[in-house]
Amino acid sequence: MLSYRHSYHAGNHADVLKHIVLTLCIESLKEKEKPFLYLDTHSGAGRYLLKSEHAEKTGEYLSGINLLWQQPDLPKQLDTYLSILQRYNPFDTLKYYPGSPLIAKQLLREQDKLNLTELHPTDYPLLRQEFNKDKRARVLREDGFAQLKSKLPPESRRGLILIDPSYEIKDDYQKIPAAINEAYKRFATGVYLIWYPVVSRTQTQRMIDGIVNLGIKRISQFELALKPDNNQKGMTASGMIVINPPWKLHEQMQSIMPWLKEKLDTEKTGNFTIKELVSE
Ligand code: SAM
Repeated sequence: MLSYRHSYHAGNHADVLKHIVLTLCIESLKEKEKPFLYLDTHSGAGRYLLKSEHAEKTGEYLSGINLLWQQPDLPKQLDTYLSILQRYNPFDTLKYYPGSPLIAKQLLREQDKLNLTELHPTDYPLLRQEFNKDKRARVLREDGFAQLKSKLPPESRRGLILIDPSYEIKDDYQKIPAAINEAYKRFATGVYLIWYPVVSRTQTQRMIDGIVNLGIKRISQFELALKPDNNQKGMTASGMIVINPPWKLHEQMQSIMPWLKEKLDTEKTGNFTIKELVSE
C-alpha cells in the first residue's frame, strides 16, 4: 500500500538539489547528437500545484524553491533549471513545480526517449495525462526497480537513469545496491542518479557503502544538509549519488553548492559535501 504522495514535498530543498543535478546531467548528454534514454524509475505525478492543500500543509517548498525563485545572483549553471521553472510559471508567481519527468520532457530532444514508471493509483493517471501527446515517452504503471532489468541496456546505448524512491518502504534502502548491481551489469556506461534522504545517518550510510562496495568505478556524492545529523524524526539532509558523472559535473557543483547552502541554510546549521567516493 503506497501512502507517500510527492505533492506534500514538491519543490523542497531536496527536490531543488536533485533537479539541479538532473538538469546538468541531461544537458551534458545533449552535447552529443546521438539519442539517449531517460529512465525514471519513480516518476511521481509530474506537475505539482504549490497552492494545493498538500503543499500548503507542509509548506516545504517555502524553504526550497521559493527561496531561490527570482534570486538576482543566480549562478549561470542554474540557467536551464530556472528556465524550466519559468516555462511552467510564466507570470512571475510561483504556482507549479515541475517534477523530474516534466524537467526531462522539456529538455529532451526529438530523437531521445523517456521511460517513466509510477505505481500510485492517483499519481499514475496524472503523469500519463502529461505525456498523452508525447511520442517519445512510455508511461507505465509498473515497478520502477524492474525496469532496471527489462529496459537496460537501451537500444541507443546511451542513457540517464534516475532512481528516486520515497523510502517509505524501508526495504528501498536495501534494494538499491542490488538493483544497481543488476543494472550496471547490463549497462555499465549509463549515468545513474540515485537520490537519498538522511533521516537516520546509519541507514543511509549503509546504503551508500552497499553501492560503493559493488566494485563500480566513478561514483560521486553531492549532499546538502540543513541540520546536523540527529535521531529525531524528519529529514536533516539529502543527496545524490552519481555513477559515471559527466566530466563537468564536479566543477559545476563546486560553484553551485556554496551558493545553494547560503540561500537555503537560513539557520546556518548545515553544510554541504562534494565527494568522489570511487575514482577511475
Ligand atoms: N522523481 C519524482 C520527482 O523528482 O519529481 C518524485 C518521485 S517520489 C520521491 C517517489 C514516487 O515513487 C512516488 O510517487 C511513489 O508513488 C512512487 N513509487 C513507490 N514505489 C514505486 C515503485 N516500486 N515503482 C514505481 N514507483 C514507485
